[in-house]
Amino acid sequence: MAEKGPLKMSAKELISGLVSAKDVEVLIGRIAMEEEWEPLGPTPFPQISTLRSWDHLLLSRYKPFYAPFCDYCCLCTYGKCDLSKGRLGACGLDMKAQTARIVLIACCIGASTHLAHARHMVDHLIEKYGEDYPINLGQDIAIEMPHARLITGIKPKTLGDLAYLLNYCEKEVTQCLSAAHTGQEGNYIDFESKALHVSMIDHLAMEIADVAQIVTFNFPKGDPNAPLTWIGLGVLDLSKPVVLCIGHNVSAGVEVIDYLEKAGLGGPGETVEVAGLCCTAHDIVRYRDQAKIIGPISDQLRIIRSGAADVIMTDEQCIRTNVVYEAQRVKTPVVAVSDKASYGLPDVSELPVEKIVEMLVSGSTPGVFLPDLEKAGAVVAITAIRMAPLRQKFKIIPDPPQIQAQASGCTFCGTCRRNCPIDLPIDQAVFNAKKGDFELLSMLHDLCLGCARCEQVCPRKIPALSLIEAAFQHKIKTEKYRIRVGRGPILDTEIREVGSPIVLGEIPGVVAYVGCANFPNGAREVGIMAREFARRGYIVTLSGCSAMVASYVRNEEGKTIYEEFPGTFDRGGVVNVGSCVANAHITGAAIKIANIFAKRPLRANYEEIADYILNRVGAVGVAWGAYSQKAASIATGCNRLGIPVIVGPQGSKYRRMYLGRAEDKESFTVYDARTGERVWIGPAPEHLIIALETMEECMVWTAKLCIRPNDTTKGRMIKLTHYVDLYKRIYGKLPPDLHYFVRTEADIPITFKEEIMRYLKEVGWKPWEKPSIDPTLLKRLIRAQV
Ligand code: SF4
Ligand code: SF4
Ligand code: SF4
Repeated sequence: MAEKGPLKMSAKELISGLVSAKDVEVLIGRIAMEEEWEPLGPTPFPQISTLRSWDHLLLSRYKPFYAPFCDYCCLCTYGKCDLSKGRLGACGLDMKAQTARIVLIACCIGASTHLAHARHMVDHLIEKYGEDYPINLGQDIAIEMPHARLITGIKPKTLGDLAYLLNYCEKEVTQCLSAAHTGQEGNYIDFESKALHVSMIDHLAMEIADVAQIVTFNFPKGDPNAPLTWIGLGVLDLSKPVVLCIGHNVSAGVEVIDYLEKAGLGGPGETVEVAGLCCTAHDIVRYRDQAKIIGPISDQLRIIRSGAADVIMTDEQCIRTNVVYEAQRVKTPVVAVSDKASYGLPDVSELPVEKIVEMLVSGSTPGVFLPDLEKAGAVVAITAIRMAPLRQKFKIIPDPPQIQAQASGCTFCGTCRRNCPIDLPIDQAVFNAKKGDFELLSMLHDLCLGCARCEQVCPRKIPALSLIEAAFQHKIKTEKYRIRVGRGPILDTEIREVGSPIVLGEIPGVVAYVGCANFPNGAREVGIMAREFARRGYIVTLSGCSAMVASYVRNEEGKTIYEEFPGTFDRGGVVNVGSCVANAHITGAAIKIANIFAKRPLRANYEEIADYILNRVGAVGVAWGAYSQKAASIATGCNRLGIPVIVGPQGSKYRRMYLGRAEDKESFTVYDARTGERVWIGPAPEHLIIALETMEECMVWTAKLCIRPNDTTKGRMIKLTHYVDLYKRIYGKLPPDLHYFVRTEADIPITFKEEIMRYLKEVGWKPWEKPSIDPTLLKRLIRAQV
């Protein structure tokens, strides 16, 4: 395949002997080689400023709100510069621009992490299967990669095409990151525009990574009935050797399974348990559903310390950086396969398998760095088998009688609690344990972040985190829940079914729970919220650690949400798309609604599709937990596509939100595409990214942010019913901004009609003159001359 990039030439005037034309654009290269599957839209392979005008439109309504974490910039040696009280840095930067710059850097880190993952994955798969390996997601998915088609104008057909798209992504990430260098960009809105750009690229990179692994490893291809499997430490048969894969890139875990099968040792769980933690876990069960999901990132330290693993294989992302140290405490050898996370371990690429196994089993090294994935698969499988009998007695977590002894030195000095980032009463819990009462220790298990700061500062060297674990041990040993295997993309056939009710508002919304949920009660809260919205008839989608922890909350009959609700992308469905990179299928579904249902041109037509989604597709993302750089870019990528995002309390640490002002009528005034008139649509959606403190607030805002200007009266009535019901449940009264959303009496929920009518009268509400319009932010989409 040609490795040349598209060359775009423009000419104001072209005159030859045969033709005379104005404003000519000629495309040479990959785009020119593309079959004409749809006329090429206006923005193929957008560069850093191609969609800038769209960003500026969005940000003129959703103004960046900054709450800087620190008054100083220390990014270069002209500094540190005090940017407080309107001061400028030595380079001329002000505080707003500096905060936006930090957001851009975070988004670049997030996007480059998925991108590097995708690059590693695609290169590895091309080596294994060849660059002509076809991209085929089955007969129910004709739009195989909506992001690729929308952003670049390319319809990828082979792994080689994916590699080509990655070249483009890499160039864009580099361009965006370079804007953060000293003495480059200086305007906060333009920093934000670059953050939006690189985050759009992030969704393309995620799509590439997930589609590459789906087609080659034969993961479920959008199957709503993907099998149910198990999650939790209790799923492991500890009498068998246990391999624990940690990270996000499943290529290495696949090699372990392939080795076992080829060696006649059966599939996962037959002679060797193959388990995963974090997103690799999702993906090994997408490969073989007999593999096991142990849990999310927040359980990492506990699970390593449980000593269950006979060997740990790390790939990339979200791995505890002291994994080797922690694993050594329970004599678990580590095999690191990614050059992005090699932990100072010796590179053993040149050694034969037997020699490496010998090093690990003998303990002559706590681990090895082995980037040759095939070899790593063999080493890990054999090492697990050899280590298992040697490790039977290893158990760092003490049994209950030992807890009291270990806690006996506690003086109740409170140092641990003062250093706990979330102020857990760990001092009281340890002190109670000293007296034989383990109840509080056990209760802290669900709240604790597992950061071990309490242990590090304790003057009496009391292993508080291990004590929490010990108290909880009875539960963790039996802990197991049902979860549906990640199904991947949404089928085109499903989009045809739900496109209309979503756009008309009769399915009240699509709610996506994404990212990690590792803060106090985060796991429980994601489970509660997901069930609440599925019961209300929203479409609930989940990915990554959120998809895992949502299974921890059972209903009255003891069922998890995956047992209670179907896996279809439909009203009341609960859809686990898979690992973090599968997030691209959630935003991809919104793109497909605009294209398949509304027939909006898809090819290289980003602005129009995003405008459609913003105004018509009631989708909301919820990143309810710690907010990594990847979550920052995922959320910001949703925002460019017109999808609002709610982040939990930890999300505010990036110090930037995109907030609309409901009372600012002009900012919520749009064109009616039918007439060109300027029409106020109410604050829908009110914000693009907002940080909230409590689960209750989150549920109210989830319902509210699903409201769209295009809702029919029936759709608006349904959406307002949920918004009002949730608001009243929490605050005991009607929402004070209801008059912004009731356009005519027909919008008013029947159950609250009298009460709402009284309220509307009090605030002087009048029916809207133009309740129904064809809303757009883009002047060029106006069909009539004004
Ligand atoms: S980048 Fe600018 S504001 Fe930051 S330390 Fe350097 S000179 Fe100061
Ligand atoms: S720091 Fe140590 S001694 Fe002090 S209260 Fe905590 S566990 Fe007890
Ligand atoms: S390990 Fe848990 S209890 Fe200890 S400091 Fe961290 S969050 Fe607090």
